[in-house]
Amino acid sequence: MFYDTHAHLDYPDYAGDFAEVIARAQAAGITKMISIGTSLDSSERAIRLAEKFPAIYAAVGWHPSDAMKAPSDIRPALREMCKHPKVVAIGEIGLDYHRLPSMSGAHGVSRPAIPVEVGRVTPCAPPEEDVRYKQKQADIFQQQLEVAAEAGLNCVIHQRDAFDDTLAQLKPFAGKVRGVFHCFGENAGRMRRVLDIGSLVSFTGIVTFKNGQNVRDTVAATPLDKFMLETDCPYLAPVPYRGKRCEPAYVKEISETVAQVKNCSLEELGAATCQTANEFFPKLLA
Ligand SMILES: [Zn+2]
Repeated sequence: MFYDTHAHLDYPDYAGDFAEVIARAQAAGITKMISIGTSLDSSERAIRLAEKFPAIYAAVGWHPSDAMKAPSDIRPALREMCKHPKVVAIGEIGLDYHRLPSMSGAHGVSRPAIPVEVGRVTPCAPPEEDVRYKQKQADIFQQQLEVAAEAGLNCVIHQRDAFDDTLAQLKPFAGKVRGVFHCFGENAGRMRRVLDIGSLVSFTGIVTFKNGQNVRDTVAATPLDKFMLETDCPYLAPVPYRGKRCEPAYVKEISETVAQVKNCSLEELGAATCQTANEFFPKLLA
């Protein structure tokens, strides 16, 4: 038995065969799935899915890559959504400096689900735009951490090329809010800094990639009770599906690699990661 703790089930990628995707997950022993919000609309869709399917739960939040499109105060809408019995966390939230406005390719198109217009070259923005973009990301991250603290919910953290700033902004909330650093691809030293503030990490299909040895090294160093498993579907399909659409059933392939790396049985891994998820997202058991 396993959970998929990070899936984007509201994405249009599943519009054609949603019921089959969920049935395949359940047949593969994936008993619970958390659909992660990336905007207010996406969070609302995640809640609707959770209402319709007993195995689906929702996280609500605004993704940092789309920060410029966020309302100036996102708190009132999130506070309302948090009251829902199947909203188990705030997320995904955090900081992402991977594509800044001054680099070619504008921000806001870095999510692979959003098609980049072919042949359209976006001029580079001046460096002041980077400062504004980072400030807006930090603002909405802060607001969402505040809502999490008020609501007594933990957070699903997205960070890319922004590890130190993300940890620094989360740190003052330690003791009230824990984060799971999703799609963790950092080294063991950084993993320990996450655990030191009471937070956790989670691993995706990257652990199965030929060039994923650095992630396997971090998995090996992470205590069995300090991480969860996720697909981040529709992205990051594990081997042998690499490059195809990912779906929650593929937690199976991820778990097989992780069990090998941890030198434990699938049963032990399933029991440990589900227990960690139940403690981190207590509304999974409500
Ligand atoms: Zn995600």
